Amino acid sequence: MSTIKSIGILTSGGDAPGMNAAIRAVTRAAIYAGIKVYGIYHGYRGLIADEIEEFSTQNVSNIIQRGGTILKTARCKEFQTEEGRRQAYETLRRYKIDALVVIGGDGSLTGARIFGNEFSVPIVGLPGTIDNDLYGTDCTIGYDTALNTILECVDKIRDTATSHERLFFIEVMGRDAGFLALNGAIASGAEAAIIPEISTEVDQLGELIKAGFRKSKNSSIVLVAESPVTGGAMALAERVKNEYPEYDVRVTILGHLQRGGRPTAYDRILASRMGAAAIDALLDDQRNVMIGVKNDEIVYVPFSKAIKNEKPINRNLLDTLHRLSI
Ligand code: ADP
Repeated sequence: MSTIKSIGILTSGGDAPGMNAAIRAVTRAAIYAGIKVYGIYHGYRGLIADEIEEFSTQNVSNIIQRGGTILKTARCKEFQTEEGRRQAYETLRRYKIDALVVIGGDGSLTGARIFGNEFSVPIVGLPGTIDNDLYGTDCTIGYDTALNTILECVDKIRDTATSHERLFFIEVMGRDAGFLALNGAIASGAEAAIIPEISTEVDQLGELIKAGFRKSKNSSIVLVAESPVTGGAMALAERVKNEYPEYDVRVTILGHLQRGGRPTAYDRILASRMGAAAIDALLDDQRNVMIGVKNDEIVYVPFSKAIKNEKPINRNLLDTLHRLSI
C-alpha cells in the first residue's frame, strides 16, 4: 500500500501547449485514486511563497483544449539555493503534501531531482517542453503542437516567398536541439534545416551555398534552430547577403508564437496518458522518475538519465530532407 495521501502539482520553466491537459489528468487520476491534490501556482516560486490551492475535479474542468498553463509558470532563482529549497520543503510539510508532480523541461526536472534527493520527497516529472529535448521519451508534451504551428506559419511564408522568388530564413525555437527545425522542414517541404547538432560538424550554410540552394526553383525556405551554435537566422542571412548579393534574402523569427495555441489531439492524448501514469508511478512507489513514452508504451525514466543525456536526432531524417529537396 502506498503511503501517499496528498500530492502537489506545479508547472515550471517554459510553458508548452498541453500542460493544462496534463494538470487535468494528474488531478483527476489522483482524486480517482482517493489522493488529495494541491495546485501550486508559479512553479517553484509558488512552492516557496505558499501560493497553493486545494484542487477538486472542477478546478480542471474545461481546460484540456487551452494552451498555456492555468497554474502559471515561472523561473525561480531562489530554488537554486539550499535555503530556497528548504523553504519549499517547509511549505510541503505545512500542507502535509507527501509527493510532487512537476511538469516542465530540463531545468525544472533538474531542480526536481536535487530537491527530491535533498529532502527525500517523492517526485514524478512530466516532460513539458516544445523543444522535445528530454532523453528517454519519443515526444514531450507541447512538441507536436509547436510543430503544427510552425507548419502553419511556413505555409504562409511560402506563398509570399514564391511570389517574390525570395530566399527565406525562418528561425524556430529548440534551445540547442534541432527537432523542431528538422521535422518542421520535412513537414513544410522546406529546402533545408540548419540545426545545432550538425553545425558543430559541418558548415551547413556553406554546403547549401555550394549547392546553389535550389537550382531548379527560384524561391527557397530554410529553417534555422535558434541557438548560439547555428548563429540564428539573422546572422546566416547576413552572410548570404554579403557573399551573394543576387539573392533576395528575408528573415522571419517565429518566436513566442510557437508556444501558444490549442494543443493538438496528439499532445492532449500524450498529456492525458502521462498525467494518469504519474499517479500510477507514485502509487507504485516510483521516485525521481520522468514519465516517458517509447514505442507507444509508458516508461519510467530516472531523472538522472532524462536530463543528463543529449537526446540524439535521427540522422536519417536529414538524409530524407536532403533527398526530397532537389
Ligand atoms: P525548463 O524547465 O523549461 O528547462 P528552466 O531551465 O528555466 O526551464 O528551469 C526552470 C526552473 O527550474 C528554474 O527557474 C529553477 O527554479 C529550477 N531549476 C533549474 N535548474 C536548477 C538547478 N540546478 N537547481 C535547482 N533548481 C533548478
